[in-house]
Amino acid sequence: MSTPGAFGATGHSCVIVGASAAGVAAALAMRGEGYGGTVTLVDADPHLPYERPPLSKGLLGEGEDSTGLVPIQPAPVYDDLGIVLRLGERVVGIDPAGLSVRLSGGDVLGCSRLVLATGVAARRLTTPGADAANVLSLRDAADAVRLNAQLARGGPLVVIGAGFIGLELAAVARRHGIEVTVVEAQPHPLASVLGPEVASLLTELHRGHGVRLLTGVTVTEFLGSAAGVEAVRLSDGQRLPAATVVVGIGVRPRTELAASARLDTDQWGIPVNEFGQTSRAWIYATGDVASQPHPHLTARGRLEHWEAAQRHGAAVGSTIGGSPVRYTDPPYAWSDQYDTTLQIIGRPRTGDDFVLRQGAEPGRFLAFWLRRGRVAAAAGMGVARDVGAVRRLIAGEVPVDGLALSDPGLDLRRTLKQHTMRHTVPTVRKGAA
Ligand SMILES: Cc1cc2nc3c(=O)[nH]c(=O)nc-3n(C[C@H](O)[C@H](O)[C@H](O)COP(=O)(O)OP(=O)(O)OC[C@H]3O[C@@H](n4cnc5c(N)ncnc54)[C@H](O)[C@@H]3O)c2cc1C
Repeated sequence: MSTPGAFGATGHSCVIVGASAAGVAAALAMRGEGYGGTVTLVDADPHLPYERPPLSKGLLGEGEDSTGLVPIQPAPVYDDLGIVLRLGERVVGIDPAGLSVRLSGGDVLGCSRLVLATGVAARRLTTPGADAANVLSLRDAADAVRLNAQLARGGPLVVIGAGFIGLELAAVARRHGIEVTVVEAQPHPLASVLGPEVASLLTELHRGHGVRLLTGVTVTEFLGSAAGVEAVRLSDGQRLPAATVVVGIGVRPRTELAASARLDTDQWGIPVNEFGQTSRAWIYATGDVASQPHPHLTARGRLEHWEAAQRHGAAVGSTIGGSPVRYTDPPYAWSDQYDTTLQIIGRPRTGDDFVLRQGAEPGRFLAFWLRRGRVAAAAGMGVARDVGAVRRLIAGEVPVDGLALSDPGLDLRRTLKQHTMRHTVPTVRKGAA
């Protein structure tokens, strides 16, 4: 690896737009591969790059991070590795002919490689009143500060959307005794991700903690004054009083910059090949904004989770650094709710065989989706011990028996070990007969 003094000496330079999970991982991996050119991370957010998952878990003083943001890396790491941070600055243009980007302050940075790690933005409602001061979403540190201040005043809280963030917020608010109603247009929470069986266990979990979870309804009207929303009207006519409303109805990819440079974009984001290259070979896209041809997706799409962003970023960084890497691991996501964690590996598909381990209860279950006699995806809550084995069963495409999997007595680690032993070619020792 190059010494710090040599950074930038090669004539190569890389600008990474977006200093979050994917962008930072890309920068670190480039240096890990010995990339000696200038590496500049630009982010519109003014803070030292920070982790987003604690933003929803650390509200109201909860979680590991009750004092501030959790940095992705301590500040000296960037200096030591010769990674230049341009924080609080937005990239406003890409010049494909000049191989450069333009920053909001007017600076132009030349770059022989460009990485777009611009992530996603929270989707907003267009219902009149949705722009009121107490109708919030949660994507970054500034959102978290606003939401924290609102929640500290007490409830009732209305959460629109029973996705990962909506459910996490409901759990945090309930722990603080705040009255919470979650409004979901689909028949179940996380229905599109996990299917009805697992979703109904989550429903029970939240209702058991006092969340009012209303499904199959939408918001038709925000009621109140210019000072703020006081209630929410639903499609079934109900009126829900609200001191705070959080909208968690999904995200949209931040593709504006890519589109302005005439890069291809699609319904999911910026399409990339298996190495993260966009329709212009010198420009890469990574993390949540990338529309990836991942083997666990039916076609291509976004993998909107921390580990996927981080690993895809690292793969792109290694590729730019000279060691091409494909990101093909089964996607993994987690979500903390109350005192337990939901973990999801792989992506269930319509047509998979569903197996729920016997004895499932809200807050403690393990479910599998089987495809061609292999575990293609799994979701568990309160079963962290088993997750490592499940990940290896999926990655190793180990043949399994659905009936056996439903038995809570089945030792998954042993199943894995037996398979590994059967498929390991015995090594022939020198001199053996
Ligand atoms: C509140 C919250 C909780 C989460 N919890 C979990 C969890 O528990 N488990 C899990 O698996 N995942 C979780 N996630 C998802 C995970 O954090 C994301 O998948 C991950 O952050 C994606 O990283 P990214 O680098 O692709 O994009 P982002 O994190 O979206 O970062 C993109 C960055 O690009 C910057 N940017 C965009 N355009 C420009 C521009 N033109 N110029 C300069 N900068 C720009 C933005 O300011 C932003 O900092 C959570 C996300 C949020 C918001």
